[in-house]
Amino acid sequence: MEQEEVLQSLFKNRTGILATMHKKEEVISPILEKELGIKTVVPKGFNSDKYGTFTGDVDRIGGQFEAARRKAEGALALYNESLAIASEGTFGPHPHIPFIPFNREVVLLIDKENDIEISGMAATTETDFKHKRVKNFTDAYEFALSAGFPETGIVVKVSEHSKDPNEMIKGITTKENLEKAVLYALEESADNEIFLETDMRALYNPKRMKNIEAATRDLVKNITSLCPSCQWPGFKITDRTKGLPCKWCKKPTQLTLSYHYNCSKCGYSEEEKYPEGIKEADPGNCQYCNP
Ligand SMILES: [Zn+2]
Ligand SMILES: [Zn+2]
Repeated sequence: MEQEEVLQSLFKNRTGILATMHKKEEVISPILEKELGIKTVVPKGFNSDKYGTFTGDVDRIGGQFEAARRKAEGALALYNESLAIASEGTFGPHPHIPFIPFNREVVLLIDKENDIEISGMAATTETDFKHKRVKNFTDAYEFALSAGFPETGIVVKVSEHSKDPNEMIKGITTKENLEKAVLYALEESADNEIFLETDMRALYNPKRMKNIEAATRDLVKNITSLCPSCQWPGFKITDRTKGLPCKWCKKPTQLTLSYHYNCSKCGYSEEEKYPEGIKEADPGNCQYCNP
């Protein structure tokens, strides 16, 4: 079968439950519809916040993939369907450059009918993940503008560790509401200082929305990559081998020598050597030639 036929027979015109409530369908649905023919449905009343929030009032259980899986499984159980899509994001310092903020998005598809679970991922430093302590509205407004306000929403908390819903105001997108929230929080604050952060929910965060779109494209790329042996979707990179040799001394470096593709259905695997298109590493990457 051709790739097109395989994908059509698996996904075309099926209903996919989109386990989300923050308008992520705006970027996810058109891609899944166009590329796979899946008709996505956002269930009314699906409370994805119960699986964890960014503001700390509900803790997330498990890692990022686990959280996405729990949402997708939760939606499948609730709506008696066999196909679900969920996404999950994380924010924090860049893993190698601590002072740069970093956003990683995962979009996961679970298909119970065909026993398929495939994910897509996108990571970026293009994010408005920021916070600040302030003592007055002037400083609060200045911070907000520096974080992309009003396109990016703001959360005002009485203190950094506030968990009580009465101690935080989310989704602020107007100057007027920001001022109200700041004055309210200052009133409640014990030390005349309050805590502001960017609202990281997708609908209040255009940069995050873009990254969710990129993760969805990565998901489609992984789904449409079929196993050369059994034609099943999801033939993707599962491992990489380091050790691209140095151009001068030929000793192995930390750079990628090969990618390993693996089929979760039949177990077929393939090694792709020199995936970056170069056979030798620049000596600048060599621990012997460039100490
Ligand atoms: Zn070398
Ligand atoms: Zn296979």
